[in-house]
Amino acid sequence: MKCRHCSAPLSQCMIDLGTSPPSNAYLNENQLEAPERYYPLKVFVCDSCRLVQLQDFTEVAELFKEDYAYFSSVSQSWVDHSSAYVDAAVQRFSLDENSVVVEIAANDGYLLQWVKARGIPCYGVEPTVATAACAREKGLEIVEAFFGEELGMRLAGEGRSADLIVANNVLAHVPDINDFLRGFARLLKPMGVATFEFPHLLNLLQKVQFDTIYHEHYSYLSVFALERIFSTNGLSLFDVEELPTHGGSLRCYVQRADSGMWRKEPSVERMLQRELAAGMSNPCFYQGFQSKADRVKDDFVAYLINAKRRGMLVAGYGAAAKGNTLINYAGIRADLLAFVVDNNPHKQNKYLPGSRIPIVSETVLREKRPERVVILPWNIADELAERLKFINEWGGKCVSFVPSMNEYAPE
Ligand SMILES: [Zn+2]
Repeated sequence: MKCRHCSAPLSQCMIDLGTSPPSNAYLNENQLEAPERYYPLKVFVCDSCRLVQLQDFTEVAELFKEDYAYFSSVSQSWVDHSSAYVDAAVQRFSLDENSVVVEIAANDGYLLQWVKARGIPCYGVEPTVATAACAREKGLEIVEAFFGEELGMRLAGEGRSADLIVANNVLAHVPDINDFLRGFARLLKPMGVATFEFPHLLNLLQKVQFDTIYHEHYSYLSVFALERIFSTNGLSLFDVEELPTHGGSLRCYVQRADSGMWRKEPSVERMLQRELAAGMSNPCFYQGFQSKADRVKDDFVAYLINAKRRGMLVAGYGAAAKGNTLINYAGIRADLLAFVVDNNPHKQNKYLPGSRIPIVSETVLREKRPERVVILPWNIADELAERLKFINEWGGKCVSFVPSMNEYAPE
């Protein structure tokens, strides 16, 4: 197995989470009769470039890309985050009716709608049919394709080069990170800027966010590893911002290495120094992560067994990738976690991959009155605990397990 960036052989394993089906392979009732395909879920650190990456199973993406689409606009806080970003970018990069803004993985147009509203020409690139259709309903132009060097060249050749390219939560999800980034170098105008947002590896490691590891998430990114990856692919990093989204993210600002004019901000060096001070250039830093993750998993299992022995009904909340990683790694089934509530109607009445725990609506939660509700998306745990206060009526409590067990006391 070779590094997806520098092709060096990979030998250092950071964490082995056993095997599980792809996290978005939700099952219908009739699929319960059939077997599921399990893949190893194992993360390596490259000895040469330090890119942290998942063992590659490219066919996972091939098999399941159409099964389930996530619509970004369902999260109001994410839509607000995007609106604020557009305001800031328009000002900083002096964008106007003569500019072109492109978003890669434009999803349902949650961000480009704000660009269009300001009268700035824009288009999106989005391979998922359902979300692309939704973006078009907002009056946005979508190129329905996967992005890479070939598409970047073609679009530039058609005179569609960009002043600003936005790529939020997509860099970690592309199997060929080099080809993807070369596309940006091709599509940017000489003075253009691209921004990338992604969860910061430093947070994953320090806050034991091991459940953000799943098959569709190929790379786990730091400035330390990325600065080299950008420059190998014709780009240069000139600014970094920290964001609270997804448990702690970074926003990297890059330009073309051959023609960009933006001055490198001190933020880049500051973040690099912080990562180096934490030990990211040292292989020892990555060792010991397995035992930290195992502690979280063991606490989760022990809690559920104890609750069962005490005759309590325990449910989960939030049927997303994070929960699937934790549940499958812990080997939990419906005898310990009876059902998982999710407000997305496309997921209701389906079953979680692997564990086959049923996904239900909030109505079922009110009917069954579980004594404990495990909040699986810890990044919005406080928000959800507040929303689920009504379970206190029947003595119910919320609890979360990442980075450590936290039982929310009733009011
Ligand atoms: Zn490498």
